[in-house]
Amino acid sequence: MGQHSSASGSALLGLDGFEVLAAQVVAGEWQLEVQTSATVVGCGGCGMRAELHGRRTVRVRDLPIGGRPVVLCWRKRLWRCREPACRVRTWTERVVAIRPRAVLTERAQAEACRRVGKDAHAVAAVARDLGVGWATIMRAVHEHGTALVEDPGRLDGVGRLGLDETSFLKATRVAPTRWVTGLVDLERGRLLEVVADRTRAAVGRWLGAQSRGWLAGVATVALDPWRGYASALVAPLGHATVVVDHFHAIRLANTVVDQVRRRIQQTTLGHRGRKRDPLYRIRKLLLTAQEQLTQRGRVRLRAGLAAGDPSGEVAAAWQGKELLRAVYRAVGMPAARAALERFYHWCDGVGVPELSRLARTVRAWEAEILAFHATGGCSNGPTEAVNLLIKKVKRVGHGFRNFANYRLRLLLYCGVSWPTHPTARLRGRSPHLAA
Ligand SMILES: [Zn+2]
Repeated sequence: MGQHSSASGSALLGLDGFEVLAAQVVAGEWQLEVQTSATVVGCGGCGMRAELHGRRTVRVRDLPIGGRPVVLCWRKRLWRCREPACRVRTWTERVVAIRPRAVLTERAQAEACRRVGKDAHAVAAVARDLGVGWATIMRAVHEHGTALVEDPGRLDGVGRLGLDETSFLKATRVAPTRWVTGLVDLERGRLLEVVADRTRAAVGRWLGAQSRGWLAGVATVALDPWRGYASALVAPLGHATVVVDHFHAIRLANTVVDQVRRRIQQTTLGHRGRKRDPLYRIRKLLLTAQEQLTQRGRVRLRAGLAAGDPSGEVAAAWQGKELLRAVYRAVGMPAARAALERFYHWCDGVGVPELSRLARTVRAWEAEILAFHATGGCSNGPTEAVNLLIKKVKRVGHGFRNFANYRLRLLLYCGVSWPTHPTARLRGRSPHLAA
């Protein structure tokens, strides 16, 4: 092969400062022989024009071309200084596009990071496309993604903070489920941080590391009060209004409906719910918001209760759940207070133990529940939306083992702003090419 570069090949490669000398497909991959266009260089020591001393071939992988992985065989030049008085003898070329001993070009690393982080593609799929191993891609994600995640401006201007837990590792026979806590900017619906565990200590440590100014800017915190979080907030975020949002309150009420249904199933039938049992068949309808039930759903719900709930306790729990929902649906504080009184009155009157317990919990968090109305309906809704994104990353990752990888990928997917590259339009740019 000669040393004549191909202008069209170089244009296709599009790697600044490089030209293509030869191209061939080997085992399904493009092998491109390339060199830099720097043919005249000066010595870094004395400035004397350097002499070509030889070449060394460096192999590095680049972005795929036409769906094929690409290997660049870089004919790297060795230079020599001819000035006898100069202490510099020989050196090899250096370029920003390919770092010494890199497996991937810089742009291929950036693209790998973008696909895994921004598009939530599987690391294994990106590795296959580039013709490298899983660890090489994950290293690129760390190297290019860490700067985005550690950008100090990323946390700026948070006025409403949401906290919620998600499972990180499912329980196994030998270990319990491991949890993480996500902190979300509720106004922008963006994940701020993921901390290992769902304890007060974990959240408290993170809050403790934030500046006083940042903490002062947080006016509202929406959280699941049945976790230890709330007490972690007291010191650093004592000034903020704590809100128990409707997602968490209704989730708790739904749990109560489920508990009562299971107990009644067990006492009336002597076994756990089975497919044909009347209450088991309406278990999802019982949790559906009343106003969202269809005509058919209402009929089925009534029939199921009539057949499977002789004492009326499941119906009572369902009513309690709906009355708590009404507290959140009320317009304005006086209406919310009145709705809350109706909920208490119901729970205290029907004598269902699970419902009495729910009423006690709600009383303990009454101020935070009513704060939902004082803060213009501060909702953890964006947190729930982020949770869905988190589930997607988990699905793609087929279960994470390593918390640092998990955190990085979650933050890259739902916590950073990606630089946008202008994309050239294929149509309408070059009218002279049109037929
Ligand atoms: Zn020199």
